[in-house]
Amino acid sequence: MIDLLLTEGTVVTMDQKRRIIEDGAVAVDQGKILFVGSSKEAEVKFPEVRKTINCRNHAVMPGFVDVHGHGGHALIRGAIFDTSNWMAAVTQLYNHYVTDDYWYYEGRVSALDHLRAGITTSVCIIGAQQRCDDPVFSINHAKGYSETGLREVVCTGPSQPPWPHKFSRIIDGKRVLMEVSYEQVIESMETVIRELNHSCNDRIRAFVSPFGLLPSTNSSFPTEADVMWAGPTEFDLHQLKEMWRIADKYDTRIHAEAYGGSIYQMHKAGKLALLGPRVHLQHTSGCSFDELQILADTGTHVGVTFQSSTMLIPMLWMGVKTAIGTDGPKLLGNADMFQSMRMTQNKHKDELTFSTNFMFNLPSDRLLEMTTIDAAEVIGWEDDIGSLEIGKKADIITVNLMNPRMTPRFNIIDTMVMLGNGNDVDNVFVDGVHLLENGKVLSVDEEKVLMEGDKVARESLERIGYQNFIDGKEHFWGKVRRYDSRPKFDLEWQRKDGGYY
Ligand SMILES: [Zn+2]
Repeated sequence: MIDLLLTEGTVVTMDQKRRIIEDGAVAVDQGKILFVGSSKEAEVKFPEVRKTINCRNHAVMPGFVDVHGHGGHALIRGAIFDTSNWMAAVTQLYNHYVTDDYWYYEGRVSALDHLRAGITTSVCIIGAQQRCDDPVFSINHAKGYSETGLREVVCTGPSQPPWPHKFSRIIDGKRVLMEVSYEQVIESMETVIRELNHSCNDRIRAFVSPFGLLPSTNSSFPTEADVMWAGPTEFDLHQLKEMWRIADKYDTRIHAEAYGGSIYQMHKAGKLALLGPRVHLQHTSGCSFDELQILADTGTHVGVTFQSSTMLIPMLWMGVKTAIGTDGPKLLGNADMFQSMRMTQNKHKDELTFSTNFMFNLPSDRLLEMTTIDAAEVIGWEDDIGSLEIGKKADIITVNLMNPRMTPRFNIIDTMVMLGNGNDVDNVFVDGVHLLENGKVLSVDEEKVLMEGDKVARESLERIGYQNFIDGKEHFWGKVRRYDSRPKFDLEWQRKDGGYY
């Protein structure tokens, strides 16, 4: 008797041979894949099955792997938008005005969003830049994800200087401002990694993740030339030692956002550099050719989103292992890998060429690799996930192809990648556990999760006084340009209020 048989589907294995099996089956027992082959063979081999699902007119494929996103954003979507100080506004909210539980409620909504789109593994930085003055935020976020049944990689580490750094906790409804030292953050980070890495039957992992590649680099934009040429400062080198010490102690990986100049600057740190196959860097926007060469030479992995202004095609051509992520739930892009694949293709299909409709960069097949098996490799989890192969963990999704948008299907990969939506995913399994069945969430009470998430979002925005971000949202019918002139966010106020931008 085996646990589960998915039969009569089009199985897109993403295995080494990239086999696509028509009228195919996948058998699962004790959370692992036992068989991938024809339905006929499966019927003979497994006469007794606890649960059989007929997957006629469905693609059966590995769950998507999202290599970069952020915890926190799912409850501010559509609110904090009209400001050039977006980073300062969300950081002030996350660092000073949300309760410890915010991260749990947000984690649940974010996880549901990913679940419904067939993203079974997500990498989440806790905050826009890391909130790591106490382990509770990461632990609560992971709790939200684990209750939903998905895999999450929690990324934790120090935010940018100055140190000590101010953070607030909401205690008995009141905001309590406190100064936190660099050492306290490192201690908290170590606790998160010790407690979370490989927890929940290895559904939750934790990576070392400083916010900027180096404390002296510009953490959201290309680093200025004089800083870049100067190489790492003494404090940079101290941080690098700490990051490697913790990564080595807990045998885990490193993830950070990286922009032009910072990779060159980092490279000068020699053996201490956060580069190499245990590292995946995000965006690489503004990186020069010599920096791409450093990534290729050191075997560093990369994640991009459709918003990354990077030279993706040369990077792939040089052999850098690269995956497509979502950057987390936001107004300008959501947890939908189909959308992310298409938007990434659209951004790069003409890169450095005069492409035509007959010859362009990033065919559908390559895009699908970059969200499944290559993505699993980018985060070092390819032994367990990213493809449907015997012995791997049973993270499987089915995509319902029976709709006019995807009919006829002359090439299933082109059809799915170019015409599919997250909503077409109707069954999701992680570790062989059925989490979404014919579009119904089985693991949590979806309505309750959404209602509670909405309540916590409104309370948080009210607490910080972001009324102008949410009240009386203006409309722009007939206007060519969006411009909402009401004051939204004041950096002076933030500085007086304990923020540091
Ligand atoms: Zn990001």
